Amino acid sequence: MGSRASRSADELEVMLVEDEPAHVALIRRAFQQDTLVRLTVAENLRDACRILAVFQPDIIVADLKLPDGEGTELLARCGRGKDCPVVIMTSYGDQDIAVEIMKAGASDYIVKSEPTLREIPAVVERVSREWRLIQGREKAIAEQARLITILEAAPDLIATTDVRGHFTYMNKAGRALLGIGPDEDISQLTLYDFHSPDEGLVTKNLGIPCAIKEGVWRTETNLVLRNNTTIASSQVIISHNDPQGNVEFFSTIIRDIQSVKEAEEKIEYLAFYDSLTGLPNRNELIRRLEMEMNRAVRHKRHGALLFIDLDNFKNINDSLGHPVGDKVLQDIARRLTTVVRGEDTVARLGGDEFVIILSGLSDDPIAAARQAEEISGKLRRKISLRTKIGKLSIQLTASIGIAMFLDDFHDPNELFRVADAAMYDAKAKGKDRFQVFNEGMDAHFGRFLAIESELRQAIRHQQFVLHYQPKFRVGKTKRLAGAEALIRWNHPARRLTFPIDFLDVLESSGMIIEVGCWVMREAFSQLCEWIRRGLWHSTERLSINISPRQFRDDNFVPQVIGLLRETGLSSECVDLEVTEQIVIHDMDETIAKMNTLTEAGITFSLDDFGTGYSSLSYLKRMPVSAMKIDRSFVLDIMTDKNDQALVDTMLAISNHLHIDAVAEGVETRDQLERLVSSHCRLFQGYYFSHPLPAGEFESLVIACRSAAVPTATSQTPVMD
Ligand code: C2E
Ligand code: MG
Ligand code: MG
Repeated sequence: MGSRASRSADELEVMLVEDEPAHVALIRRAFQQDTLVRLTVAENLRDACRILAVFQPDIIVADLKLPDGEGTELLARCGRGKDCPVVIMTSYGDQDIAVEIMKAGASDYIVKSEPTLREIPAVVERVSREWRLIQGREKAIAEQARLITILEAAPDLIATTDVRGHFTYMNKAGRALLGIGPDEDISQLTLYDFHSPDEGLVTKNLGIPCAIKEGVWRTETNLVLRNNTTIASSQVIISHNDPQGNVEFFSTIIRDIQSVKEAEEKIEYLAFYDSLTGLPNRNELIRRLEMEMNRAVRHKRHGALLFIDLDNFKNINDSLGHPVGDKVLQDIARRLTTVVRGEDTVARLGGDEFVIILSGLSDDPIAAARQAEEISGKLRRKISLRTKIGKLSIQLTASIGIAMFLDDFHDPNELFRVADAAMYDAKAKGKDRFQVFNEGMDAHFGRFLAIESELRQAIRHQQFVLHYQPKFRVGKTKRLAGAEALIRWNHPARRLTFPIDFLDVLESSGMIIEVGCWVMREAFSQLCEWIRRGLWHSTERLSINISPRQFRDDNFVPQVIGLLRETGLSSECVDLEVTEQIVIHDMDETIAKMNTLTEAGITFSLDDFGTGYSSLSYLKRMPVSAMKIDRSFVLDIMTDKNDQALVDTMLAISNHLHIDAVAEGVETRDQLERLVSSHCRLFQGYYFSHPLPAGEFESLVIACRSAAVPTATSQTPVMD
């Protein structure tokens, strides 16, 4: 038995369901002529159903009265004649029966007689043809309904217009977009009604001719909606032609791209403007700077690049939080723009860095520099006005670097670097000032960059070492009282390099955090070894210098505790040397950090005492156990009355506060005697020992232990 797929299109599979052999024979004969017909015969309903289960004929011709039921029952198996046409044969010409048969879904019926049975091939041919036609029409209607469902569900505007541009159809999304009611008549509306007059003309005079010529026209255009808002849209117009090439109608598809456009604009804005302050960002600044540098050359007038960095801004963010910091930056941005002229550029580089381009200054270099300085002065004053944010009143200062330009710079980045160097110089000179760039700064800046990159290598190749300088307690005897660890850089070319040559670079580049951590780990491990070998007494502490930036780092306290745990060193052996600089940032936070570490058993010494802010109120609140009188006071103590008095005052303060005082930089016996007579007991300096590498320091310790030397009187200490 064949399936539909295996037969040719012209072949016709006819299933005859008939129990009367004579009728079957007659019908067979009638079909004999027709080679394209294949006849399958079933004698009863059961056989017919079995065949239908595996095979779908093109047409069924069935007798009404069959041995096991009525031929019309087959209609149910064929979807009431939807799957294939069914012709029913009856032996009676009864009208009512005929109506019943047709109602049940039969395509035709035949009253059996010899002539009509002989006519069956013709009936089969006609019924098949008509059935195919009806099926085709129904399919087309279903297809059309589906297409309309798709059009109506589409999120874009889809419409058709006649040749004059009047709408003939518009989908639901289109009506909703333009603001046309669902039942509103659109036949008098055109596409041009929803454009501005100009864009309507473009569509009419450019778009339509192009669609006719090319078949399709694509563009981006603005739609004017019924509620008078304008939105960006992408639009396609397609021309539909008849076979002769005459335009029958147009269809159009319009997509609302307003939000896409807005996002694009936002992205573009963010690429060139700072979102916090609305000022141009670095990209836009470079573009404008290039323009201004060219203009300066053309007009032979100087320009200036001002690099502005707010002083200690980090404290605002750290102590008052970022939202307050952001408000302050917005306020500063506003103030800066009020000082300069409209044609000047104020930009934000990020963080607390602002840059201003001043253009069209004098043609005389000295006068131009004076102008730039005058404006910088105004900017400084404006920045230092108090800002009110909620209940807070904040005052800021700024350091400003000025780089002048006419034809001496060709690369904006070069000019940037120069202004940056001048700004750094202003910071180094104590902040809250402006500084015009000069060649010396460039050298300084160059050195800074060179050292910075060398230091990165130094970290990678572990070129740092620690030296140890002993501290002595001198009274009736001279006793080792501890030591200070001091960093050295084993530079591959310059040999041993001292902190003065690189510490500022470590500090300002932030590398001090990593290096400072190394110093602690190294010192702690060394100490552990000395304790193990019985060289170090538990009453002695090793002092480690902590830079302000290192101390301020959020991770500092956990880092110290972690390193103690990691090396297994007792905190009772550790003293941290800090300077007063650490308190100027946030007194409460500083003290809280110090308290945490003191509670853990660590002590603090205040280094370089007398050179910083030296406020007694700070000193009272800070949990320090010693002050280190700066070397500069000790240096001239024999000759300078002022220094003598200051040292005496410092010693009195330490006595009053019950903290130790360590005199630093003692180089001579005279200095020592003078200090001892002022009741100073702790000393450090070349007179006793230079800072030494670990090995030499060990020998010194061993020598000290074997000879604890008594002093002659309490007033004349031992000086060996
Ligand atoms: P400081 O903490 O005041 O250290 C004392 C400095 O004075 C050391 O200089 C020491 O070598 C020097 N010195 C000691 N006795 C005498 C003396 O009798 N005469 C003279 N002229 N100098 C003496 P150094 O090692 O060059 O260190 C300089 C500064 O660098 C230190 O001053 C300290 O502030 C800083 N520093 C050193 N090592 C480290 C470190 O590991 N981390 C941090 N953050 N800073 C360090
Ligand atoms: Mg120190
Ligand atoms: Mg010191």
